[in-house]
Amino acid sequence: MSADDLFRTLLERWGPSKVTMDQGRLAPHLEEWRGRSVGHAPFLAEPASTEEVSELVGLCAEHGVPITLQGGNTGLVLGQQPKGEILLSTRRMDRIRSVDAAADAVIAESGVVLARIQEAAEAAQRLFPLSLGSQGSATIGGLLSTNAGGVHVLRYGMMRDLTLGIEAVLPDGRIVRDLNSLRKNNTGYDLKSLLIGAEGTLGVITAATLRLFPKPSGRTVAMAALNTPDDAIALLQRAKARSNALSAFELMNETSIRYTLPLPGIRAPFSTTPPWTALLEFERFGDEQDQLSEIEDILAASVESGVILDAVVAQTLEAAAAFWRLRETLPAGHRSVGRPSVNHDVSTPVSRVPEFMRRAGILIQTLSPGAEMIAFGHAGDGNTHLTAIAAEGASFDKAAISTAIHDLVADLGGSISAEHGIGVSRKDDFLRYKDPTAVAVMRSIKAALDPKGILNPRVLF
Ligand SMILES: Cc1cc2nc3c(=O)[nH]c(=O)nc-3n(C[C@H](O)[C@H](O)[C@H](O)COP(=O)(O)OP(=O)(O)OC[C@H]3O[C@@H](n4cnc5c(N)ncnc54)[C@H](O)[C@@H]3O)c2cc1C
Repeated sequence: MSADDLFRTLLERWGPSKVTMDQGRLAPHLEEWRGRSVGHAPFLAEPASTEEVSELVGLCAEHGVPITLQGGNTGLVLGQQPKGEILLSTRRMDRIRSVDAAADAVIAESGVVLARIQEAAEAAQRLFPLSLGSQGSATIGGLLSTNAGGVHVLRYGMMRDLTLGIEAVLPDGRIVRDLNSLRKNNTGYDLKSLLIGAEGTLGVITAATLRLFPKPSGRTVAMAALNTPDDAIALLQRAKARSNALSAFELMNETSIRYTLPLPGIRAPFSTTPPWTALLEFERFGDEQDQLSEIEDILAASVESGVILDAVVAQTLEAAAAFWRLRETLPAGHRSVGRPSVNHDVSTPVSRVPEFMRRAGILIQTLSPGAEMIAFGHAGDGNTHLTAIAAEGASFDKAAISTAIHDLVADLGGSISAEHGIGVSRKDDFLRYKDPTAVAVMRSIKAALDPKGILNPRVLF
């Protein structure tokens, strides 16, 4: 059966609302969010239930038709972009099946957008702690498939740490149902962990049981001005030693902030942007005044000992939101630069973040004199988003810069993909830096579960 025949079969069974060749309906699913590339697909399928996903995948497996999976289309490594495969969007699978405050668990379908889970948790007086810049569009299926991280990993871990159970359609159409909310469950291989981070190569995630946590009564947000990344890590250690409530520690260099300040609604936290700025967030479960004095003590002691140059604590919710707005707008600020650039999403042990920043800066200058380095990210968990931007009119070898940065990461015991995954765009680096035995085991797992290469056939390998 060809893709065209499959389309006609599904059109007959499901009707035109769930399957279409209309280019107008396909268009928003084909373009990557930064506009870097446009995909193409014979048709778009939007199943509304696990059974419909199973029917579609089963037909594709039977007739050897490959599928690309898509949730919110916010992925940064092109795994969700079809290049000739049929496109399965989980947009219609958007039910929150249950919120169980007693079990601290929520069961949601894969197409539910993260912001809705956060709201449902809040309504039940609980917290779902995953938080990232794309939370208004990114879906549970995409977040699980990329094992997303975000700003609260320091305290709560990544998506894998926040998941108790899973439901998925395997590449032959069978359904695995394991939507438990158990904290203790040692019954054989952990298929949930296998599917999380598999980037849609081993199954279509259709629903998941996610962990909820006690809801803080508030949060305190502060910005600290710093001279060096070494000072940032010293401040991080001090904050962790003095307070058990640190929930985010983000670091931004001067260049990353400079390109963002001109954007509407963005305010500078300091009159002069320092070489490095840290954003600290503390959750509050007790008295507000007690917490404020604890944080002011940490910051005052850090100023006194020369670890930080200056600090400002948000006194209102609006001020706290403005601090976060600056941090979350950085990627948009950098998009406006318009000169050739190359991005990296890497992690190193936290203690080696300063060395990474120093050596990366030297490498970039050596390979492309005058180039700028944008560095920001979740320093509290060792994750840096690093972009090199060419100087006006200068020669700029993106591949050479990336290889140098990734060699450095490998030398420091880090990872060439901290939270965005491998997708299609990081495949060469994945195969180059990952332990060959680990890659061979992964290929065996893929071959065992998806021998015909039906699901996301261009992703990972
Ligand atoms: C502004 C911005 C900020 C971001 N910040 C962060 C951040 O801080 N931390 C972070 O980790 N990421 C971040 N991201 C990346 C992105 O949001 C995440 O990768 C997110 O997990 C993708 O979710 P999605 O629903 O958009 O998935 P998509 O982009 O649609 O898909 C991503 C991958 O998952 C697969 N997939 C989608 N749904 C399913 C499913 N149901 N079953 C199996 N596979 C599936 C796709 O095939 C693809 O390989 C950011 C992105 C943007 C645009």
